Amino acid sequence: MGPCSTWSQEADLEVEVIRSEDWPDVVGTSWIDFLDFAPSARLCLPTGSTPRPMYRRFVELGGDLSESSIFLLDEFGLPPGSEARCDAMIRRDLLDRLPEAPSAVETWNTEAPDLRAECARFAASVQRPGLDLTMLGIGRNGHLGLNEPGSLQDSPSRWVDLDEVTVEAAGAYGEGPSPTWGLTLGIREILGSDQIWLLATGSHKAEILRAALLGDVTPTVPASYLQRHRRVTVFTDEPAASLL
Ligand code: PGA
Repeated sequence: MGPCSTWSQEADLEVEVIRSEDWPDVVGTSWIDFLDFAPSARLCLPTGSTPRPMYRRFVELGGDLSESSIFLLDEFGLPPGSEARCDAMIRRDLLDRLPEAPSAVETWNTEAPDLRAECARFAASVQRPGLDLTMLGIGRNGHLGLNEPGSLQDSPSRWVDLDEVTVEAAGAYGEGPSPTWGLTLGIREILGSDQIWLLATGSHKAEILRAALLGDVTPTVPASYLQRHRRVTVFTDEPAASLL
């Protein structure tokens, strides 16, 4: 039996169910295949526990981002240098491991005097000329980036108060106090990406993955908005897919 099976919920939403031990390799290889066709892609990348093994495998496989532009999906309101910050995680898990730096890396300045202007700046740089591929994790509360439950489909990039589930999850990302707020790419800009890959691993994601993919499209589960995008691939391991 091969490492993955594929089924399609609708024509536009493809779900790859992958054995847990093969998941980093399958997703890392798919990313390298994508870059073979689009080496100068504009990529929005997530941080956290889910993508970590895949980023490491991508580098081991010789993944090359030297012509690509990277946009960080979101950022926690933590002091610069905090190990749980998303910019620190993406450096540790991916960027510092690459032999050659990406052509550009766009991160969020949580110290900017005007955070509304900072979010507008980030959204504008993402939108000109748009994202080719956005990778996303899914929170146990159904968030995408830091678009917490209650986020509307057209919600823009913005400052957000974190949901308690997110605060708890962020506690595992590094030493020090957990964040209570963050800056995030909006659902609007996420859905503007040409392609979206949703990454989900572990049995603790099974229930929310089912709600996101098979439940109603609702602000209560922001990931359910992905059902409205024309080109989504879900890369899930078998435990996370167990309720699909
Ligand atoms: P995790 O976070 O990968 O650490 O589970 C995913 C998310 O909150 O989007």
